[in-house]
Amino acid sequence: MTCDQARGLIPLYAARALSESDGAGLIEHVSRCTVCQTELVEAMRLGHELRAAFGRLPGTPEGTWLSVAARTLGMPLLQVDLGSEMAGLSLNVGATKTGTPITGSLSILGREVPVLRI
Ligand SMILES: [Zn+2]
Repeated sequence: MTCDQARGLIPLYAARALSESDGAGLIEHVSRCTVCQTELVEAMRLGHELRAAFGRLPGTPEGTWLSVAARTLGMPLLQVDLGSEMAGLSLNVGATKTGTPITGSLSILGREVPVLRI
């Protein structure tokens, strides 16, 4: 293995993304080459620091994913239905990526008539 080949594999090794056979070839080269050895040590130190830094990041606050889903996909937040089969009023509040539309409809004998859209 050449130094150029080794330098191409060092970041993968440090990220634990190198196959066992490529890792063995790299280690064999590094055991004889002090330049690549220094680069491997530095890459592994950086990888360790990055993993530790990601481990210290706070978790996602509760409700974040529900809020994201509401904004991106749109979802109903509230629905109120009043009345009977003869006549009724339905009020809906939803969440979409463009806002929180409020719609209302009046139903008379099973037929819906939109009366409100904000
Ligand atoms: Zn080398």
